Amino acid sequence: MLTVAEAQALILKEISPLGSEKVNLLSALGRVLAEDVASTRDIPPWDNSSMDGYAVRAQDTRGATKERPARLAVIGEIPAGRVASRPVGPGEAYRIMTGAPMPEGADAVIPVEEVLAEQDKVGCLREVASKEFVRPLGEDVRRGDLVLSRGTCLTPAAIGLLASLGRASVEVYQRPRVAILSTGDELVEIEERLGPGKITDSNTYTLAAQVRAAGGVPVSLGIARDTLESLIERFRWGLTADCVLSSAGVSVGDHDHVRDALEHLGARLRFWKVAMRPGKALTFALLGGKPVFGLPGNPVSSMVTFEVFLRPALRKMMGHAELFRPRARALVEHPISNPGGREGYLRVSLRREGGRYHARLTGEQGSSILRSMLLADGLAVIPPDTTVPAGDEVDVILLDQSLEG
Ligand code: AMP
Ligand code: MG
Repeated sequence: MLTVAEAQALILKEISPLGSEKVNLLSALGRVLAEDVASTRDIPPWDNSSMDGYAVRAQDTRGATKERPARLAVIGEIPAGRVASRPVGPGEAYRIMTGAPMPEGADAVIPVEEVLAEQDKVGCLREVASKEFVRPLGEDVRRGDLVLSRGTCLTPAAIGLLASLGRASVEVYQRPRVAILSTGDELVEIEERLGPGKITDSNTYTLAAQVRAAGGVPVSLGIARDTLESLIERFRWGLTADCVLSSAGVSVGDHDHVRDALEHLGARLRFWKVAMRPGKALTFALLGGKPVFGLPGNPVSSMVTFEVFLRPALRKMMGHAELFRPRARALVEHPISNPGGREGYLRVSLRREGGRYHARLTGEQGSSILRSMLLADGLAVIPPDTTVPAGDEVDVILLDQSLEG
């Protein structure tokens, strides 16, 4: 049986980033840049004042003190958005506002708090140094600088920077369209009444939410019945998507036909078992070059296998540089055991104490107990046949980003 790491590597080897599309900058949050962005501008575009004050020639203030101010003639005012009408000559100054371009001839600004303003004169109460309170041309960005590179996930700051470069739209990777198929004769649609032996299909909703949280676009294929024909028909519908995801019907029971359906459609099966708990039965295939995942049916198993295999795969399609969630070491507060030969992905809640994570199981770990996921901040990765005693450390995949750092 493949290990989780082997299965992940096998999947990622078969997946490449999707194409790109142009999006309006206002819609670009969280998208991944598909182009390198070099600046065609200097930011700021000219030397400008960082204070409200007076633009002066530093040399004209030499020796100035409170007792003996350097008196300069004020020849005009430069509000933000205007430019000086003439250069500053010896003994002259301009009133200047924050963000306004420095007038030619001046090389420093003295803040308004450090002068005595008279009618058309200003008294500088101290010496200023050349360049003082002047923000130089290009201090933020230089023309030609590579500002953002392909693969960068666009944060609010990145979007602000793109705006300051005048980029109203940017080229980003497409979001994968992910077709989601639930399978099973026991399943009814969410609006339907529960008959004898029936349960509501929840995996469609969980998986659609996970796809969206990962940045993809979910498309539901509804519920396939436990027949080869029903599965084949619905898998076919899914082939217009970038990736197909089914849940349940991947074990070895008499009613588990997912693998057969995929083979019937001519899929290239890559593997159908992984040594993990939960989620041993997991099928990965390529159908017309597109990745198809047959996830296990138990709600926790399908969620955990999505986290471990699908999320990185979707992130690769979206051009992300970082495919995996961050991990941390956490001290376990009670013994955690993982009997059997499969790597365990156990749901834990985390708390910070003294700069360290402390982990506790979220309760019963049965693969159908969805509430164990609800309470989980992370998945503790426990090696096969291992009991971790209280006080020892384990590796935890951090599910809740707010717990990072
Ligand atoms: P299976 O892999 O088909 O044997 O399904 C394993 C378990 O998961 C069974 O208890 C199913 O009823 C349950 N299950 C399968 N699909 C879903 C679904 N879409 N929503 C909720 N539970 C499901
Ligand atoms: Mg079933």
